[in-house]
Amino acid sequence: MELLRDKTELLLALKMHLKEVKNIAITTHINPDGDAIGSTMGLMLTLKSLGYNAKVITPNAMPAFLNWLDPNNEIINAEEQKDLFQTTIEQAELIFCLDFNTLKRIEHVGHAVEKTTCKKVLVDHHQQPEEFDYMFAFPGASSTCEIVFEMLKALEWKKYINSHAANSLYTGLMTDTGSFRYKGTTATTLRVASELVDLGADPAAINERVNNASSLNRLKLLGFSLNEKLEIISGKGVAFIYLSKEDLADFDYQPGDTEGLVNFPLGVDEIKVSVLIKEQDNKIKFSFRSKGDISVNDFARTYFDGGGHVNAAGGVSFDSWEATKTKFLNAVNEFF
Ligand code: 5GP
Ligand code: MN
Repeated sequence: MELLRDKTELLLALKMHLKEVKNIAITTHINPDGDAIGSTMGLMLTLKSLGYNAKVITPNAMPAFLNWLDPNNEIINAEEQKDLFQTTIEQAELIFCLDFNTLKRIEHVGHAVEKTTCKKVLVDHHQQPEEFDYMFAFPGASSTCEIVFEMLKALEWKKYINSHAANSLYTGLMTDTGSFRYKGTTATTLRVASELVDLGADPAAINERVNNASSLNRLKLLGFSLNEKLEIISGKGVAFIYLSKEDLADFDYQPGDTEGLVNFPLGVDEIKVSVLIKEQDNKIKFSFRSKGDISVNDFARTYFDGGGHVNAAGGVSFDSWEATKTKFLNAVNEFF
């Protein structure tokens, strides 16, 4: 329990608090990824086994390759199920906030959460977390799933983690560590993975569902991006790929289709920072990745109202691509 060694009193307070409530809402960030869905489902299923009325709310839809994590369609997509989302938040006696560090990251769901008077529990591994009533923020942890597992174990609820919850938590561990390769992968991460396998998680089946289930269009979008759209900023070790709405439409883009694309340029020795830039409805979305000590978290926070981790962060621009590109190139010149 090394992760939670200084949190004994907080865990005790949370356990006492949990004795007083029944309705629990669990939220996670916009454009949920494997860690977001894995951690919320893992927590929800375990709380349900304990008799709680627990519900997961996401600000928008998850990518199709994660649908198997929610076989009974229990997740409330706040964008589509507006009334159910509102009543669930209003009736909640405790709200868990998983895999994000500021309510800004859950957009419209955040406004509803802010209006409630119940206590909020943050469980997260991003840098610079906001203050919540109960804080379980560990920027050194591989994933939110790792923290959720350690919390459930510390609360003496490990026996309530069923095999689907174990699969869910393992998914976040696997996706947020790039299959146990990135820096956040510690002895604790690997120990948690092993305990989840003991509880019924199936690593090969999860890999199959997450990594080997893409469409042909997605594969072609990857080829197009690397062949036609990759640009290198010489002398800076920075690579970037810009995909306009039209580019994405040409390949029948579905949420999740660019997952992992930003990592490919980092395979080149001299490229230290890789950036994927996507045009969306009303904004331009950045994905930053870096090697070693280069902090794309700092870069994203400084120039693009974003944040994340040292080696993986995101940001946003509401200007046109032309204005955004100029700003980006100037920022790269200044920062790197
Ligand atoms: P991705 O590039 O995979 O979307 O995100 C990389 C990391 O940065 C994730 O941990 C994600 O939660 C975080 N992130 C992505 N976009 C934003 C953003 O706009 N603001 C902040 N604060 N974090 C972000
Ligand atoms: Mn995460």
